[in-house]
Amino acid sequence: MVRTQFESLVYYQFKSLLQQDLIHGVFTRHGGVSPDPWHSLNLGGTVGDAPDKVAENRRRLFSALDRPVSSVFDAWQVHSANVVIADGPRNDRPHTKGDIILTDDPGVTLLMRFADCVPILLYDPRRRAIGIAHAGWLGTVRRAAEFAVQAMVQNFQSDPADIMAGLGPSIGPDHYTVGEEVVEQIEASFGRDASRHVERRNGKTYLDLWSANRALLQKQGVVQIEVAQICSACHINDWYSHRSEGGKTGRFGAAIAVSE
Ligand SMILES: [Zn+2]
Repeated sequence: MVRTQFESLVYYQFKSLLQQDLIHGVFTRHGGVSPDPWHSLNLGGTVGDAPDKVAENRRRLFSALDRPVSSVFDAWQVHSANVVIADGPRNDRPHTKGDIILTDDPGVTLLMRFADCVPILLYDPRRRAIGIAHAGWLGTVRRAAEFAVQAMVQNFQSDPADIMAGLGPSIGPDHYTVGEEVVEQIEASFGRDASRHVERRNGKTYLDLWSANRALLQKQGVVQIEVAQICSACHINDWYSHRSEGGKTGRFGAAIAVSE
């Protein structure tokens, strides 16, 4: 990914998506107004931070992307594989529960929040359709990445070979220890391929969310996949990490929009 600065905000962009007719960014925690433990660009509205601080952070994020805040469509993220189609900005409508949002409306900016879970950005330059998905271990077990691609095919007639995908900063295989109950669910979901994404060393078990989600995309025919390889738990100066910070932290934002 490429590091970009706008005023005091710092965000990262996928190299593969930069040359496209697309606006996107995965925002570090720098440049916001929230105090510890959310310091500082917290986008999470349900983590104890003050709503006015979160609103100001959101305003700054949209300003950095030169998009109106009113264009936002976000969801109530529940670690599911539910797909939400954004047929316009969300406006005053209540959040729908879902962890995949898709649109082909250039007037919409898709926004999601993360702290260790994998941000998955999707772009079909032929159909000019975009998607964003949120996949922690449960979203990975539920195969959110797979449902995202299938929904782009169904809703926008996308050819998976055209779809460009980016897997953003999230907890890496070096840090993500999981219990046996998680391994069992990964095995049930991935079958014999599960062993590719689970590593046992020094008496601990590590889950590789990056390889697992890349595999889900590849199985659907997506070939253009850029993996940031940035571990949120390793870099808590830049990213929020639920695991590294004991659950007391904020959420960083990832946003994507088709250029008008
Ligand atoms: Zn790490």
